[in-house]
Amino acid sequence: MTAKYSEYEFRSQPWFDQDNFKGFNDAIPMKTMVICCFDPRATEAPQIVAEHFGDEVYPGQNVLDEQGNKVGHTRTLFAVYCAGGRAASALQSVATMDYLFNVRKVVVVHHSFCGATGFRPDQLIGRYHDCHHADITNMFDRESLAISNYEESLKHDIGLLRASPAVPEAVELYGFFYEMNKGELIEVVCDIPA
Ligand SMILES: [Zn+2]
Repeated sequence: MTAKYSEYEFRSQPWFDQDNFKGFNDAIPMKTMVICCFDPRATEAPQIVAEHFGDEVYPGQNVLDEQGNKVGHTRTLFAVYCAGGRAASALQSVATMDYLFNVRKVVVVHHSFCGATGFRPDQLIGRYHDCHHADITNMFDRESLAISNYEESLKHDIGLLRASPAVPEAVELYGFFYEMNKGELIEVVCDIPA
């Protein structure tokens, strides 16, 4: 019996060779990942980063085949939205995108007046315990739970990415502070392998 919806899987397509996968780069020229906060006031951060680098396509558009199927896209820069834009939340996405595409740059953006600057990690953990009677103390990288200082949070995240086996050594890393009211993007840290 065939699993439901399996006709929508790549692995069941006759033309798709899972064991000789060369990447989806011909369909989508993805090369950069932006890790940023899902705060609706700062959702334009990927666009601002794309304009900053100047050689990125964002948002881009679908590429359609003759039947109108979505077979590709022109976007080069992918966004990972998570609480505070913390790198620890995005590691699995980096490793997965490296398998599917060819990741060259990973960018972390922390924005002004982020909710993550409004509490300490112990407050989040304590409140969670009080309200839900569950202990999340050891579930997460404590330094990644809140933003205590923008320079430190950005340096921490770029260091975390550089030290992680889930991030290829040749990937360029950038940490930006985004002042969302002025629309100003400031490079705080970068780590470009020699
Ligand atoms: Zn935020």
